[in-house]
Amino acid sequence: MTTGGAYPKPVEQLIEQLSRLPGVGRRSAERIAIHVLKQNTDDAMQLARAIEQVKTTVNPCSICHALAHAQPCQICSDPRRNASTILVVEQTRDQINFETTGAYDGVYHVLNGRLDALAGVEPDQLTISDLVARVRKPARNSRQVPVAEVILGLSPDMEGDSTALYIVEQLQPFDVRISRLARGLPSGTQLEFASTAVLSDAIRGRQRIEHGS
Ligand SMILES: [Zn+2]
Repeated sequence: MTTGGAYPKPVEQLIEQLSRLPGVGRRSAERIAIHVLKQNTDDAMQLARAIEQVKTTVNPCSICHALAHAQPCQICSDPRRNASTILVVEQTRDQINFETTGAYDGVYHVLNGRLDALAGVEPDQLTISDLVARVRKPARNSRQVPVAEVILGLSPDMEGDSTALYIVEQLQPFDVRISRLARGLPSGTQLEFASTAVLSDAIRGRQRIEHGS
């Protein structure tokens, strides 16, 4: 260690932990640590408690794998949601974005990523088998409702497309309608950066994928 050592050990440890966060380098970690030291004790403790809370009370939904405060999640257990339609997304953040459009009243399935051969992401690291189980057995789906439609809400780029193709293959044996978002999304963009208007158009204009095509 060349830059450390000047701070008291607990401060060094905080900087070390912070610099492990995505997008936070040593310098930013140092700035955040100094900020925390300057904060009043209540504010700093609230941050510590918030971290503890998410780690002890938030878990993936047992049905759809979205981050949830209850089991199953609010959406899976909501009788106003159409549980026969599943929108497949890469991450909980995409689900939240679709929710803000107000254009979708079905349920979700969060894959926890997408297939990426270069990064070594294989099908068994995603929740695809649980998606297939929901289609195969109504008992595994939200409110035990049989699944009629699966919408593939993946990013329109290479990894998103190959993940979608793989899921279509897995769902081939089942009598379920498979559709994809309308191609209003600029190709190659991540879904998480799409605007609310584009997302609601994409979901309303979704197109059926014919089996075997
Ligand atoms: Zn759920």
